[in-house]
Amino acid sequence: MTRRILTIALDTPLDSVFDYRFSPAGDDRSAPQIGQFALVPFGRREVIGLIVDIKQTTDVDDARLRDVIAIRTQLEPVGHDWIALCRFAADYYQRPLGEVALPCLPKYLRAPKTVALDRALKKIDQLVVAGEPAQVRRPELNAEQRAAVDAISGSSGFQAHLLFGVTGSGKTEVYLHAAERVLQHEAMQGRTAQVLILVPEINLTPQLESSVRARFPQLMVTMLHSQLAEGERLRQWIAAHQGRAGIVLGTRLSVLASLPALRLIIVDEEHDPSYKQQEGLRYSARDLAVWRAHQQRIPAVLGSATPSIESWQHAQTGRYRLLRLSQRAAANARLPQVGLIDLERHKAPDGLSPPLVAALRERLERGEQSLLFLNRRGYAPVIHCDACGWISNCRRCTAFMVLHKPERRLRCHHCSLEVRVPVSCPTCGNVDLQPLGRGTQRVEEHLQTLFPEARILRIDADSTRRKGSAQAAFEAVHRGDVDILLGTQMVAKGHDFQRLTLVGVINPDTALFSQDYRAGERLFAQLMQVAGRAGRAGGAEGAAPVGEVLLQTRYPQHPLYRALLAHDYVGFAESTLAERRAAGLPPFVFQALLRAESKTLQTALDFLQQARGLMDAEGIVLNDPVPMTITRVAGVERAQLLIESTSRPQLQAFLKPWVQALRQLKSRLRWSLEVDPVDI
Ligand code: ADP
Ligand code: ZN
Ligand code: ZN
Repeated sequence: MTRRILTIALDTPLDSVFDYRFSPAGDDRSAPQIGQFALVPFGRREVIGLIVDIKQTTDVDDARLRDVIAIRTQLEPVGHDWIALCRFAADYYQRPLGEVALPCLPKYLRAPKTVALDRALKKIDQLVVAGEPAQVRRPELNAEQRAAVDAISGSSGFQAHLLFGVTGSGKTEVYLHAAERVLQHEAMQGRTAQVLILVPEINLTPQLESSVRARFPQLMVTMLHSQLAEGERLRQWIAAHQGRAGIVLGTRLSVLASLPALRLIIVDEEHDPSYKQQEGLRYSARDLAVWRAHQQRIPAVLGSATPSIESWQHAQTGRYRLLRLSQRAAANARLPQVGLIDLERHKAPDGLSPPLVAALRERLERGEQSLLFLNRRGYAPVIHCDACGWISNCRRCTAFMVLHKPERRLRCHHCSLEVRVPVSCPTCGNVDLQPLGRGTQRVEEHLQTLFPEARILRIDADSTRRKGSAQAAFEAVHRGDVDILLGTQMVAKGHDFQRLTLVGVINPDTALFSQDYRAGERLFAQLMQVAGRAGRAGGAEGAAPVGEVLLQTRYPQHPLYRALLAHDYVGFAESTLAERRAAGLPPFVFQALLRAESKTLQTALDFLQQARGLMDAEGIVLNDPVPMTITRVAGVERAQLLIESTSRPQLQAFLKPWVQALRQLKSRLRWSLEVDPVDI
C-alpha cells in the first residue's frame, strides 16, 4: 500500500481540488496527512497546495494522473477545524476552497523552494521569550468592567458577547483581563491556549501591542497584518500555527490564521468597515470570527461604542449577550460636550468658522491639543474654469481628478491616474483655474496662515505613504509635539490621545444625503468615534468635562446630529432599525450582489440580464441590473444586480447552483459575487 491518491486544494479560480498520485521516495516511510502542504505540478508550473483528502482510488485517468513532488513534512499539518473554517468561508462566499485556504497563507510558505520555511522554523526554535516576570500593573476594574469580564470568562461553550462601551470606557482592560483569565485557566489545566485579538487597522496595532506586551511579559505575542516583511510574516504565522503564540494580534486577515489552541476571540471596534475584505474573497472578518468561536465552542467578544446595526439587532434578539460600559473609566473623565456650529449663521469661507477658530486659539493658549477631522484628502476635490465651465474630470472614470497642491498634481482616487496641474484651461486657455471645495491640504494651508506659531500635523493617506511614517506621526502626537492634528478617518479611530481636549468636525454633511442606506450608520459611528478622542484623560473632580467637540453643519436639526449631541447611540440604533424594517433592508433581508465589468455598459447590463434569467427560486428577488454609482473606473464600465431574500438559508440555497450556472456561461467579461455586500 505504498501508492496513494491525495486530493489537493490549489489556488485556482474554478474547481480547486485535484487528485495527485503520491509514491514515497526511497526509504521515506512517513505517511502523508490531511492538512499538510504539498508541492505539485500544475500546468507548467509547480505550486503549493493543501492536502484535504487521502484515498486509494480516483476517477482520474491513470495516464493523466500526476505525481506529488514533495510534502512539507517539516511543518505540522493544519487542523481539521482550520480546513473546516476555510470550507465554510468558501461555501458561504461562493468561492472554491483553494481560493480561500491558500491566499491567506504567507507567501514564503507557498514558495516552491523551502529555504525561507526552513530558516523561519530554525529561528522559531531559537526564540526565547525575553520577558521578565516583572511587576505587572493592572488597574482596578470598575464594577461594569468586572461584570463584563466575569460574564465572558464565566460563559461555557460558544457565546458571542457584544461589549457596548462608550469611548474611553476601558474596553481594552476588559479584553486584557478576559484574555488573562482564559490563559490562566488553561495553564492551570496544563494546556496551552491562544487568544486572537482583531483590530480594524494596522495603525492601531502598536498601541495595543504595547499594552498586551506589558501585561503578558512572559507570553509570546505575535502580530499578523499585511505590512510585515515576508520573512517576518512567515515566522509570525508559524508561531501562531504551532500554538506557541499565546496572543495573536492582527487585522482582518488574521481571522484565517491557523490557531490550534484558540480559546477566545476578541473583535475590537466590531462595527468598522475595514473588517470587510473588498476584493477576492469578500469576507467579513467579524462574521467569520463569530463562526469560528461557534465552531470551537468558545466565547467571542465584539467591542464597540457604536455597534453595527446587525450586531445590535443580535443583542436585542438575545443571540448575542449585551455587556455595557456606560461611563468613562479614567478618574473624573467624562464624555465630551458636543456642540453644533450652524454654518448658516457662521460663515466659513475657508472651511473654519469663527467659533471653531476661537476654540482652537483657546487650546493653543492653554497648551492643549486639538484635532480637526475632514474625511477628504488632497487640496480640493476638483478644479474648474470660470470662463468656459471646464472641470477636471478623469478621462478614465466617472469621477473628478483631485488637486494635490504640494505635489502639483491632479490625481484620480479611483484609477490612480496622475497628471501635472495644467497652467491654463485645456479648452479656453484661461490661466485662472479655481479649486472647488476643500480637502485636508487646503485646511492645513489655512491653519498655517491663521496660527503661524502652532505645530500643525496633517495625517492622511498622502502624508503617510512611506512605511513607518504613520506610526512616527502618531507617536509625535502622543509625545505632545503637535498642537493641531488634522486628518481623515485615519485619526478618528481608537487612539488614546491623552492631551487632546478639542475635536472639530469640518464638513460632515455630505454623507447625510448619500444613496447608500448605510451612510448614516457609518457617519454616526465615525463622528462618535472621532468625538471620543476628546477629553480622555479627565480633569479635576466635580469640574465641567474637559473635552469639547464642535461640529460644523448646515443642518443642526438633523436627527443624526441630535442623537450625537445626546451621546445617544441606542436611540439612533433603534430608529435606524425601525427604518430598515419598514424599508425591507438588512438586517431584515439578506443580500448578495453580482457585479459585472466590461468595455461597454450594455455588455455588462446584458450579462446581468442573462444571469437574472438563468433561474427562478422561491423567496428570491432578483432586482433589475443597474449601472454602479461610479459607473466607469479606469475605462471599464460597471453594473450590478442585487439579489435579496428574507431567509439566509434560502439565499444560500439559491446562490450555489446559480453561481455554477454563471460559470457555465463562460462569458468573457469579468464578474464577481459578493455575499452580504456593504457598498451598494
Ligand atoms: P475604550 O477602548 O473603551 O475607548 P480604553 O480602553 O482606551 O477605552 O480606556 C480609556 C482609558 O481609561 C485608558 O487610558 C485606560 O488606561 C483607562 N482605564 C481603563 N480602565 C480603567 C480603570 N478601571 N481605572 C482607571 N482607568 C482605567
Ligand atoms: Zn476654460
Ligand atoms: Zn480615474
